[in-house]
Parts: sequence; structure tokens; C-alpha cells
Amino acid sequence: MTEDKKPIGHGGHPGGHPMGDKTIKEVYRDIKDSPDGKAHAHQYMVNKANQLRLVFWETTAGCNLTCAHCRRLDVAQTLMKDDLTFEQSCKMIDGLLEVGKPILVLSGGEPLYRPDIFDIAKYAVSKGLIVALATNGTLVDAGMARKIVDSGIQRVSISLDGIGETHDFLRRLPGSYDMAIRGMKELQKLGMPVQINCTIAKHNVHQVKEIYQNAIDLGAVALHIFMLVPVGCGVTIAEDQMLDPQVYENVLSWFYEVGKEKKIETKATCAPHYFRIMRQKAKEEGIQITPQTHGMSAMTKGCLAGSAICFISHKGQVFPCGYLPVEAGNVHRDEFKKIWDYSEVFANLRNPDLLKGKCGICEYKKVCEGCRARAFYEKGGDYMEEEPYCIYEPNKIAEKNAGK
Ligand code: SF4
Ligand code: SF4
Repeated sequence: MTEDKKPIGHGGHPGGHPMGDKTIKEVYRDIKDSPDGKAHAHQYMVNKANQLRLVFWETTAGCNLTCAHCRRLDVAQTLMKDDLTFEQSCKMIDGLLEVGKPILVLSGGEPLYRPDIFDIAKYAVSKGLIVALATNGTLVDAGMARKIVDSGIQRVSISLDGIGETHDFLRRLPGSYDMAIRGMKELQKLGMPVQINCTIAKHNVHQVKEIYQNAIDLGAVALHIFMLVPVGCGVTIAEDQMLDPQVYENVLSWFYEVGKEKKIETKATCAPHYFRIMRQKAKEEGIQITPQTHGMSAMTKGCLAGSAICFISHKGQVFPCGYLPVEAGNVHRDEFKKIWDYSEVFANLRNPDLLKGKCGICEYKKVCEGCRARAFYEKGGDYMEEEPYCIYEPNKIAEKNAGK
């Protein structure tokens, strides 16, 4: 198979997506020539609603920390030689512009490890992209903060996975909490909005209220809580650290309640059933979900992998998100627009009718979808299977159990 004949989708779709091993041209020809081609065309069509809103780019594999829950098992200096070069990075950014103007999140590894990170940020900003930086914060001193601000980056997220030693434990570096706080303060002195990202797992679930209050006290603009996905190093700590589904439900319910205080922007990330909980609670309260009542959460849905977000690895591989290892294509080989518009895995993720198990019959599936990465890891690689960490019993199951 020549390079240009390689299929863009390599995902091994569990349901046997009709794109199979075909090239995009072959798929077009099939639709055009087949008598029932039109009937199937929708399966390949670009859903206009699937606008690319956020691209998480692993700018480098290098990092100064070795966190217990890192999605990379292979973080190593040696891998950095595979990082996209500056020229390749600019080309990749140009490719994004053919699809839209997503927010570009410079992540890693640790993005501040890259010597040319600010040149890259400036390039993306010059092309009209909003650029954000996701960092562990430990490398940010006054000089670094100034460079971040001057590069045109508009928001910085710093990962704080607990208070003090709880954070240090997961980051495997004593003092890393204090270093991150120092970095945050340096950025805030220069007026940079700083968001706190927090992975909730067994080691810090007892601190959730403190974490919330701490984010407010630190003057963060937002607190995004992230529910651990058993991937990378997360696989090895999953048994110890994954929350029981009921605890998970309790945390999300609590998070919904504190979100109403509107003291800080709150967002549950990679916790898709938050959006089911939000609707259940709003119904109980007799209120409508609007941007005024529920902020950003009113305008989005649970899992956005492949429908509004994607992840680009340091080697140029494109994935639905950083936690679902089903490759949609590679920017070294394929045009980003083709990957986004036509890859098999993205087509599947955009079609809630393909969801299986209880997610497939759930009345909330269009606003939730369950975490496809958790399904992948716990259901033998089938990313369309049901979310394993949701306690909800869809109406159809409840009715069947009640003998209706
Ligand atoms: S599959 Fe969806 S919910 Fe799960 S980690 Fe990826 S983006 Fe988040
Ligand atoms: S069953 Fe699936 S779609 Fe329904 S709320 Fe749970 S995770 Fe979401």
C-alpha cells in the first residue's frame, strides 16, 4: 500500500464501520456509484455541528516530572527527538486553520521544556488562534511568566492534584505543590488568568471541598475537575486510585451544587455523566438549563472526543483525545482537514446511535455519551461500549425490570 492509499482511519472500529480499509477517494466513488450510496452517505458526511473547538497538542514528550497518573508511560528525554520541529509545528497549525479556529492548548509532557515554545505560541497567535498553555507550573518563575504573557498566550492551566503533600504524592516530587503555586502567583502578578486543573482520584477525594475553596482563595479563574482515566500510568494505578462509581456520582453531584454558588467557573472534564446529573437535578429543581443558569456547561456535552476536540501527539498522530489511543491519522502523512472530516474513529464517535450497552439505550446519550476511553480500557478495546463508571439505569432498563 502506498502512502496516499493508506486509510486515514486505523481505529479497528468495533462495529465494522463501512469506511473499512478504503481511501477517501474510494469511499466517494462508492457513494457516487452505488444505487443506495445516498442512503449511506450520511455515515461519511461531515456533520456541520462537529466544529473543532479545542486542540490539545502534546508539544513535547519531555517533562521534568514523572507523575503517577500521567497518560504517558514512556516520558523520556530520548523521545523528544520525535517532537515536531518548529517548521512541522507551523505546518500543523496551518492545517488546523483549514478546519476552523480552534483554541490551541499547548500541553506535554511539559510544554515549557521546549526551547521554541514561545515562537510556536507567537506563530499560532499571529494566525488568529487563541492559545492556552497547560503546565505543571513548576518551571514558572518571574522571567518565564513574562515570556508566557509576551507570547500572546491567553490562559494558563496549572495542574494541582490536591493540597500540599497530597499533590506532591501524585506528582512524585516533594515541593512540587509549592513550586506550582509560586508559578501561578508569578503569572497572576502579570494579569494572566490561571485555571486550576485537578484530577480527582482516591488519593485526594477526601480533599475535594478544600480543593474547591483553595482554587477560590488562590484567585483562579476556573476549577476544572478531571476524573481519572485508566490510561498510561493511570492503568497501573487504576486499581488503587479509580473511584468507586457511586463515589464518582457523589463527587459530581456535589460539584453541581457548588457550581451554583458561581464563586468560580467550574467544569467537570472527562466526567460525561455530569451532564446527565446536571439535567436530572435541573429537572428536580424545575429550572431550565441556560448559559445564565449553568454557564459553559449549558453549551456543551459530556464526551467531546472527536466531535469538538482532538489530541495531537508529539509525533503528529491525531487521536480523539489524549486518553483514547485510537489513531485517526498523522499530520506527517495526512492533511489535518481530511483526518478531521473523514477518519473512521471520528465518524464513529460522532454517531451516538453506535453506542453500545446501556449507553446505547440511555435517554441521556446525546448529552453524555460516556467516557469512550474508559470504555476502551475496561471493555476490551471497544470504545463504543458502555461507560463502566456510571451508576445510572436508563429508563428502558428500569421499565424492563419493572415488567412494563
Ligand atoms: S473519551 Fe471523552 S470523556 Fe473520556 S477522556 Fe477522552 S474526551 Fe474525556
Ligand atoms: S448510561 Fe452512558 S449515556 Fe447514560 S448517563 Fe450513563 S454514561 Fe451517560
